[in-house]
Amino acid sequence: MKITPVLLLIGLVGLAGAQQLPRTVLPEGYQLTLSPNFQTDKFGGDETIRVRVAEPTSEVTLNAAEITFGETTITQNGNTQTAKVTTDSKAETATLTVPQPLAAGPAAIHIQYTGILNNELRGFYLSTVNGRKYGVTQFEPADARRAYPSFDQPDMKATFALTAVVPKGDMAISNGKIVSDAPGPGADQHTVKFAATPRMSSYLLALAVGEFECEAGEADGIPIRVCGTPEQKGRGHFALQAAESSLNYYDHYFGIKYPYGKLDIIGVPDFSAGAMENTACIIGRDLLYFVDPKSSSYFLQKVVAQDGVAHEMAHQWFGDLVTMKWWDDLWLNEGFATWMSAKPVAAWKPGWNMATDDVQSAAEAMAVDSLSSTHPIHQEVQTPAQALELADVISYNKTAAVLRMVEGYVGAGVFRKGVNNYLAKYAYGNATAPDFWNAIAAAAKKPADKVMSSFVMQPGVPMVSVAATCSNGKSKIELSQSRYFFNRELLDRGGSELWQIPVCLKLGNGEKCELLTRKSQTVEMTGCGPVYANAGARGYYRSAYDAANLHGLASAAEQNLSPAERVQLVHDAWAEVRVGRAPVGEFLSLAEALKSDPTHAITQQISREFEYIDDNVATGADRSAFESWVRQTFAPVGEQLGWTPQANDSEEQRARRADLLALVGGVGHDPKLIEFSRQFTEKTLHGEAADPTLLYPALSIAGRNGDVSLYDAIQKRAETATSPEDMFRYLGALGEFRTPALVERSLEYAISPQVRSQDAPFLIDSLLSNHDTQDQAWDFIRQHWPQVQAKLTNFSATAVVNGAENFCDASHKQQVRDFFSQHPIPAAQRALEQTLEFIGNCIDLKAQQAPKLASWLQQQSGGNQAQ
Ligand SMILES: [Zn+2]
Repeated sequence: MKITPVLLLIGLVGLAGAQQLPRTVLPEGYQLTLSPNFQTDKFGGDETIRVRVAEPTSEVTLNAAEITFGETTITQNGNTQTAKVTTDSKAETATLTVPQPLAAGPAAIHIQYTGILNNELRGFYLSTVNGRKYGVTQFEPADARRAYPSFDQPDMKATFALTAVVPKGDMAISNGKIVSDAPGPGADQHTVKFAATPRMSSYLLALAVGEFECEAGEADGIPIRVCGTPEQKGRGHFALQAAESSLNYYDHYFGIKYPYGKLDIIGVPDFSAGAMENTACIIGRDLLYFVDPKSSSYFLQKVVAQDGVAHEMAHQWFGDLVTMKWWDDLWLNEGFATWMSAKPVAAWKPGWNMATDDVQSAAEAMAVDSLSSTHPIHQEVQTPAQALELADVISYNKTAAVLRMVEGYVGAGVFRKGVNNYLAKYAYGNATAPDFWNAIAAAAKKPADKVMSSFVMQPGVPMVSVAATCSNGKSKIELSQSRYFFNRELLDRGGSELWQIPVCLKLGNGEKCELLTRKSQTVEMTGCGPVYANAGARGYYRSAYDAANLHGLASAAEQNLSPAERVQLVHDAWAEVRVGRAPVGEFLSLAEALKSDPTHAITQQISREFEYIDDNVATGADRSAFESWVRQTFAPVGEQLGWTPQANDSEEQRARRADLLALVGGVGHDPKLIEFSRQFTEKTLHGEAADPTLLYPALSIAGRNGDVSLYDAIQKRAETATSPEDMFRYLGALGEFRTPALVERSLEYAISPQVRSQDAPFLIDSLLSNHDTQDQAWDFIRQHWPQVQAKLTNFSATAVVNGAENFCDASHKQQVRDFFSQHPIPAAQRALEQTLEFIGNCIDLKAQQAPKLASWLQQQSGGNQAQ
């Protein structure tokens, strides 16, 4: 599964379901007929499960939720018995009891039942667009039981032969190829029979019913379709190309050809998460699939190619073919798909600088992993709700970063061999964490298992401190490791964790790798000069440099370091400031040294940290002095690049221009750029073609400084948008307006029926994150909690908890704690702890760095006057 793009982690909320089922009866194959009825919003089900009874029993327990059971029988050796059905709605189970015990051996359960086409975006649910209804499934982790009584846990794999009885004129798409499609049984129905699937987990079954248009292609002999509602016709080509290219890449990489005969990718108008890797039938929100490269941003093209397509397709091997045994190893699915997803995209679009995205992704994980309330990658899980709580940056991004590090440590070819052995050994079955790292260690003949287990089983991100001395042309480099915390007390105390860290050092043209296994180790290298401690930016650790080393690295960064290494350097320098081990001025000087760097991710990161400084560290007169310094330093850079896009710009240049506009026009409040943004936005609203990447910051700046007439125009544009990106960007822009009346309007709008549940958190989170609107948003959320919660039900209440992390004062910290204690969100307990910790860290950061910022700014202005 892929959580939503846009840096907004949506935690999925599931009901606390059952713990694991007894293993006395195991499924082998399902024959299932589903008949959705869009008049009653219910569906009928008829199911035969072939099972194997392991020991004599008169009870069979399986999962079911919101299912009304009809005739239920169990047949064994020609003897059919009617079963008594006892349901447990809390545990989400049904127990079938027969008078005569079943013997060990095969049996068949037959169940007739009805279920609900719900509005909760899980199970078998309804989606509506322009008055047309769709039936869509989303089962991970534990909602298959809402569509069919099932042994609903990942290690109870079986085959599935599905038949769908659907309204005439509607299509049905599922995991298998269509075997037959015949009119009836009703006059206004047709019956679509799908080929049986190979053995797979219950949560991977899928069905989408409704009016779809598909664009068809193929790769390596596998037919591929991208399907969506008729509104999206003509926008599927880019995703189709990405899918063709990815399939070809994976066929070669994995050494196991795509095993499912066909692939369908379906974009739907309502979807809770981002997308779901159902076997050969990927389903996701339409934003992740429908783009026109001519009018869509670089940002969204990457999201479509990497998150919508390559991530979900990687799951066809990692997740669908080989599945984690239980949810505690969710990372085996998600971390792998995340790690893998950059590879086919980098091969397809070499100019996209995917290596820097990998660093940005790892940095997101490192931020959460710097809290004491983080969790290890492998985490005990009892219930599906806890499994959902694990769908976070640790499982996805941290795992991906650790895999990248281990790949670097054993070598890409060897790592791939280990991966291939693992997939071949566990294909159509299940695996655990040690199964994976033992396969890698065996292929590598290196202690990759020890490296991996130290990062998978222990929480936190290591900090590797570097101290180099030089004599006679040789450097003696002292490396030491300790756990990094944003909390300075914890940092100073040092954790008990000890990692096995593959550290690769760079000095001049030399590179040397060392496995850091002790608290500290000394490495010798030829030559003298600044030492860079994370060659290739492959390591999942922060590097701590002294000021002289950092200066040395910064002054020749473009010559000596790769773009990914430079992005990592920016993160490392900021991490030192966060904990008071370096003054904020040191970071500002580094940013200035890198101001002309052509890498978009560097300007992007500088812009983000500057916004944080502007919101939280700079106060009063310092704030305007800081903003003025930002303008003076970065406006000339933007002018040199040119604020107006040129036809021959690369995507990286376009993105960098957008970052600079956000920096100088947004953080710096440059009046010329505010006017530029207003004009740019108005031209776009009048239908003139505009650079789609630059449009994001332009809309944001125009909105921030905009009035009611601009608001009206943008809202109208959001409501009439047919392209998913237009809807997304114009809806998001409403969250940028600052006047209280418009903020109120946006909040009311977000909880109104006009905004889809899947999109509401974009707007709410934006208002809660913006420094100038967060108080009002927070008051509104508390006053309207029942409506807000109803809007966010089941998928995004966690987003509100996460959004509150942008406060930076003790009073709000207390309010957030109090409010969510009185209104607890079960699947957001860890998110709440993390939010409170982020706020606490920010308060500390402000106290320790605000005076340092003031004196640095004074020095700057003194320096300017002297010139
Ligand atoms: Zn996934």
